[in-house]
Amino acid sequence: MFSKSILNWYNENKRDLPWRGKPEAYFVWLSEIMLQQTRVAQGLPYYLRFVEEFPTVHDLAEASQEKVLKLWQGLGYYSRARNLHDTAKVVSANFGGVFPNKYKDLKKLKGVGDYTASAIASIVYQEPVAVVDGNVYRVLSRFFGVETPINSTEGVKQFKALATKMLATKSPGLYNQAIMEFGALHCKPKNPQCVTCPVQSNCIAFQQNKVGELPVKLKKQKVRERFFNFLVFQDAKGQMLLQKRVEKDIWQHLYQFPLIESKHNLTLAEIKKTALLDNEKKVLQSIKRWNEKPIKHVLSHQKIWATFWCMAVKKLPENIQNTQQIANKQELMEFAVPVLMEKFINFKNG
Ligand code: SF4
Repeated sequence: MFSKSILNWYNENKRDLPWRGKPEAYFVWLSEIMLQQTRVAQGLPYYLRFVEEFPTVHDLAEASQEKVLKLWQGLGYYSRARNLHDTAKVVSANFGGVFPNKYKDLKKLKGVGDYTASAIASIVYQEPVAVVDGNVYRVLSRFFGVETPINSTEGVKQFKALATKMLATKSPGLYNQAIMEFGALHCKPKNPQCVTCPVQSNCIAFQQNKVGELPVKLKKQKVRERFFNFLVFQDAKGQMLLQKRVEKDIWQHLYQFPLIESKHNLTLAEIKKTALLDNEKKVLQSIKRWNEKPIKHVLSHQKIWATFWCMAVKKLPENIQNTQQIANKQELMEFAVPVLMEKFINFKNG
């Protein structure tokens, strides 16, 4: 009954999205990876740019990592973009451009976990495997009144089993899309539309007045605060330095101005004293703080306070690791950079 009602609701209310219709593995895979942790409205323009630039998995496989990261810029969680690119190469080179058609084989691909493998296997190949994303957790926990935390090991198992039990096995792909869409549009995190809900009469959370309490989540990991000082060296010709982030950290393989990370926000006197600047004292002409107050940039488990220091130099420093010289502002725009840097660059170029 529940599954049938959800399917009927979907039939009447689904959004017309470009990867729906006659689903193909490449497009479903792209959309599922791109829209994880992202709202459709935010992710859709990225998806459209990707499919225009890379109409097949072979095109994506042949692209440079720089180009893929540049197109991904602003979508966050950059490891997803790197894994996406690696998987495209494997599918192109080892499978002739055809994605595996079984859940268990899809799961072996880099960056493809239970969620994405279930989505592709069911939506494209009609394999009866249940998809459990944030929307599904919410709908099931409310409808069945399940109070097990959704981000606990026990919760993950319990909800996967429940979702599998509810799966409409004759049309698993359609049903999976239906329940996700129902969670996204109707049984929303805030202000769910219970009054017009087709499954309201059997919804435990509604009957017991617990809609606002479900789903239950374990407390979030503590947010780590970090302090970034970007050194924007510029010589008389307007040439600048960019540095590639190579460490296993946020923004891996993206570019930035040379960075000093500190334990607190640094003052002008403190930044002048750093080892890096000692080396560059002879060539340094002036140093100016660009933003009066540190810029706050919030990621999922980190809060970054950033200051840009504009440093006029006679000659660009040569002893900073992983740097390359950029001749002009136009070239600067070609590099994949974190959104935090993009704002600064756009302001400078604006
Ligand atoms: Fe969600 Fe409300 Fe419908 Fe229950 S009645 S499934 S809480 S929208």
